[in-house]
Amino acid sequence: MFLTNVKHLLENVVNAIPPEFVDEKVKKEAEARLKLLVEEFRVPEEEAVRTVIKYIAKEKGVPDGAVAFVQAPVIKVSSLRPREWASLKVKLVKLWDSKSEVVVHSGLVGDETGVVKFVIWSDSPELELKEGGNYLFENVFVQEYNGKLEVSVTRRSRIREIDEEVGLPERELAGAIVAIHKGSGLIQRCPECRGVIKGVCPTHGKVDAVDDLRAKVVVDDGVSVYSVVMGEEVVKALTGIGLKEAREIAAKALDRDAVRSELIRRLFGRYIRIRISVRGGGKGKGDGKGRYYVADEAEFA
Ligand SMILES: [Zn+2]
Repeated sequence: MFLTNVKHLLENVVNAIPPEFVDEKVKKEAEARLKLLVEEFRVPEEEAVRTVIKYIAKEKGVPDGAVAFVQAPVIKVSSLRPREWASLKVKLVKLWDSKSEVVVHSGLVGDETGVVKFVIWSDSPELELKEGGNYLFENVFVQEYNGKLEVSVTRRSRIREIDEEVGLPERELAGAIVAIHKGSGLIQRCPECRGVIKGVCPTHGKVDAVDDLRAKVVVDDGVSVYSVVMGEEVVKALTGIGLKEAREIAAKALDRDAVRSELIRRLFGRYIRIRISVRGGGKGKGDGKGRYYVADEAEFA
């Protein structure tokens, strides 16, 4: 037995419909339907409210634009349930362009509790999204597809950029380093955009490049392979080679590539445990879905 405040739900329904369409008879009918949906059929409250609003709007001939749908509460990705409406504060992890006519975009969004696929339908409000951006997805509809949840951005949804950094889930990964990509070792970055360059930045031209150290490795945990990028701190913690040591190795060998060779010697085939966070990017690299991971911490297992 559970008690539902149907009166409160009824208020939401009534508030959504322009007053000229609401009389006592409509209220009675709405209340009865809410009771039935929530108490009898255990439909989630939010969904019940929407269903009843839709019903009344249709019965009474309320124009589409005149219905103000109730704001779905902001919840975490891990709390998403199928067939419910929700609002999410998320970071855009990955954006795929769509070849389908009815889908504008699809991709991945996440917060610290998880990552979920989203689909933007062609009749959705127009917006410009970028990977790494933080957004409030308002009133998205949660669906289950092939046993996985995904959120639909529909005509009723709204997406706004927010001034807040949304975190992504951290995961632990343990496995063997089976490859160390080119682009590992002592690299040069543009001081303006931090992009990896070879002397000239495509955007900023000739710049005084700054040295940096990184390792792009492939980790095999026995089930999948993961592309993992390690920054200087993580590389140093694992190998003892930091930026200073890397410069010395390069100077001694008169060859910057000597650093990568040394990293291969110290990392290849080793078992490691890594704390990773998901990042977007990667052109067809990573796990084959274009994803790669950034190591926040790592140690030999
Ligand atoms: Zn640059």
